[in-house]
Amino acid sequence: MADDVSSAHPIGEAEAAALVQRLRTALGDKGVSTDPHEIAPHIQDWRGRWRGWTPVLVKPASTEEVARAVRICAEAGASITPQGGNSGLVNGGVPYGEVLISLRRMNQVREVDPRNDAMTLEAGVVLTEAQRVADEAGRLFPLSLGAEGVATIGGLISTNAGGVAVLRYGMMRDLVLGLEVVLPDGQIWNGLRALRKDNTGYDLKHLFIGAEGTLGVVTAATLKLFPRPAVRETAWAVVASPDDAVALLARAKHLSGGAVTGFELVPSLALDLVVEHLPGARDPLPASAPWRVLIELSLPRAEGARELMEAILADAMEAGLASDAAIAGNEAQRAAMWRIRENIAVAEKAHGKARKHDVSVPVSRLPDFMTRAGALVEATLPGATIIAFGHVGDGNMHYNVVPPRGVDPEAFVEDAGAPVTRAIHDLVTELNGSISAEHGVGKLKREELADRKAGVELDLMRAVKQALDPAGRMNPGRVL
Ligand SMILES: Cc1cc2nc3c(=O)[nH]c(=O)nc-3n(C[C@H](O)[C@H](O)[C@H](O)COP(=O)(O)OP(=O)(O)OC[C@H]3O[C@@H](n4cnc5c(N)ncnc54)[C@H](O)[C@@H]3O)c2cc1C
Repeated sequence: MADDVSSAHPIGEAEAAALVQRLRTALGDKGVSTDPHEIAPHIQDWRGRWRGWTPVLVKPASTEEVARAVRICAEAGASITPQGGNSGLVNGGVPYGEVLISLRRMNQVREVDPRNDAMTLEAGVVLTEAQRVADEAGRLFPLSLGAEGVATIGGLISTNAGGVAVLRYGMMRDLVLGLEVVLPDGQIWNGLRALRKDNTGYDLKHLFIGAEGTLGVVTAATLKLFPRPAVRETAWAVVASPDDAVALLARAKHLSGGAVTGFELVPSLALDLVVEHLPGARDPLPASAPWRVLIELSLPRAEGARELMEAILADAMEAGLASDAAIAGNEAQRAAMWRIRENIAVAEKAHGKARKHDVSVPVSRLPDFMTRAGALVEATLPGATIIAFGHVGDGNMHYNVVPPRGVDPEAFVEDAGAPVTRAIHDLVTELNGSISAEHGVGKLKREELADRKAGVELDLMRAVKQALDPAGRMNPGRVL
């Protein structure tokens, strides 16, 4: 069954020409492109690691146009890859012969309902725009991540994106109230309900969240809004180990009554890379210790906020968990601290190739993971450099391994580094963690997922795919 539902159906040249003609008739010239220059940025991923191809780029401007295009593809037996901002990191949105449907033109705000703390946006709205719309309505849309200037609502939903505020607000799955989806046969499912309570059977929206385009095309979503915090207190603390960072997190959560919205681990190595590659960046607190944490509290009142952060940091120093700390004194300093964290991936990219691992374990087991993973990498590839950073508050590390001198980085990132990944992922599995915490599966981890998921779980996933997309035309070869 796995092969039935995952095999691609790229179409031949003659069929492609006929298909393009039908799509043009249905969507007009604005909605269809075969121009290689226009297509070029859509068929290469953000890191420049994968390059695909497509016979046609479809650019629908409405749900009805998406449905028309999907119906035409179904009739022609052509596979589809949906795409948003193309910032995904697992080779999920780059087409390999599929018809590419870009949702970027579907960028309308359909409704903002502050009294219901909800807004309905089309799939192509970029995350920074979603945040702006919420802010304009006096609310907060809390999702925030490094690619927020390009990632779209449809892509964020389809990858169940995480980011830097999951600790308090949850993943994208937790922020979605309702969805509108074009199904693989071209039917439109309008599930745009703005309800907090709705126990009327299976909650279908969750099937499409994190499905990476394998079950349908997300065209719009109703999203949760939150009160805007009156004040954010942000601090940068120097810690000796991930163990101390996890202990500090627990104390900060307790002392703040759950007001910690961000808690990110930054190794000094990553900090050095950002300072080297990002113009204007500097270490907020020069120190020789190997780790820093970025702590953010979001509070409803300004009174007492600074004192609360000071108390948390004083407590950490008294307990021997932090050797030094600085509180952002103004918005510019706060932004500078976050800029460091958010630019680690960018600085790493400028620095060179690394083998990436987006893994999670229970927060309590993170220190154990970090110690053992370090030893495993050294044993598997002596001299390799580890750049492990990220969402320690969610137990999620971006665990990246740079090969030592003398090892070809290109080959290491492709096949030669597989033993390192196997060692790290075996450890993650032993600790009951996940080999993909927030980036998804795509083509990159598809085979490994099949090896690592228990049979029952995988069978259920395949049954869902078979029920919704029996011909296996929606983003084939991704996830399953
Ligand atoms: C610098 C950087 C930092 C990042 N930081 C984070 C982070 O902190 N946390 C995190 O979770 N991710 C992060 N990412 C990954 C990426 O931003 C997310 O995966 C994001 O959700 C992708 O959105 P997109 O619109 O670019 O989707 P795309 O890359 O276009 O697509 C991603 C997947 O979703 C599918 N898809 C896209 N749109 C639709 C749709 N409308 N309907 C159905 N399927 C669709 C695609 O087929 C593909 O499988 C980061 C990426 C970069 C480059």
